[in-house]
Amino acid sequence: MSTIAQRLQEVRRQLPEGVMLVAVSKTYPTTSIEEAYAAGQRVFGENRVQEIVPKYEALPKDIEWHLIGHLQTNKVKYIAPFVHLIHAIDTVKLLEEVNKQAARYNRTIEVLLQVFIAREETKFGFSPDEIRDLFAQGLPATLPNVRIRGLMGMATNTSATQQVADEFAGLAALFQEIKPLAGPAADTLSMGMSGDWQLAVSAGSSMIRIGSAIFGERL
Ligand SMILES: *Cc1c(COP(=O)(O)O)cnc(C)c1O
Repeated sequence: MSTIAQRLQEVRRQLPEGVMLVAVSKTYPTTSIEEAYAAGQRVFGENRVQEIVPKYEALPKDIEWHLIGHLQTNKVKYIAPFVHLIHAIDTVKLLEEVNKQAARYNRTIEVLLQVFIAREETKFGFSPDEIRDLFAQGLPATLPNVRIRGLMGMATNTSATQQVADEFAGLAALFQEIKPLAGPAADTLSMGMSGDWQLAVSAGSSMIRIGSAIFGERL
């Protein structure tokens, strides 16, 4: 049995320079996060507000907390004081609420817009055309307390490698297309999880979100 530190090291060893690793600690206890922290990891991702808040409170303050899962508008206020990056903005209403809560705390909150790329019913996100429309409307300038850092997507959960690679390639192309409209802050393309991150990195990902490959099978 390998340890969290060893598995973390193994992912880092394979990661090209410039690709950020978000250690997805959802469902794992704070002791597991402390193990990864001791091995140098500072960026952690959680998908539920109820879980990220107590973990933020309990753990060292130099951790960067990323909210990677679906976020309800009425819960933004709980994470607004500390969240580092919100990956899954999937409606304009949510983006406006993040802007409002960020202003309350005198902050600029960094966000990614989630794009629906999978051939599945259950995933959240904007369509590529909705993303094009948003940037054509000049959205970033109209919301001063959010900084749009880029796009996030999840590929279909399938062993069909070509399909997954095509979905990542489609998102990477969309990212290149909107970059000139989104401005210099838009430097982040978040795609790739434990099962598909090598494909995501080959397609141009700059941020991978890895849970089970580091922390072990979820309980
Ligand atoms: C859980 C989760 C991950 C990590 O999944 P693993 O397969 O455990 O690596 C990545 N992104 C999101 C949005 C998740 O909810």
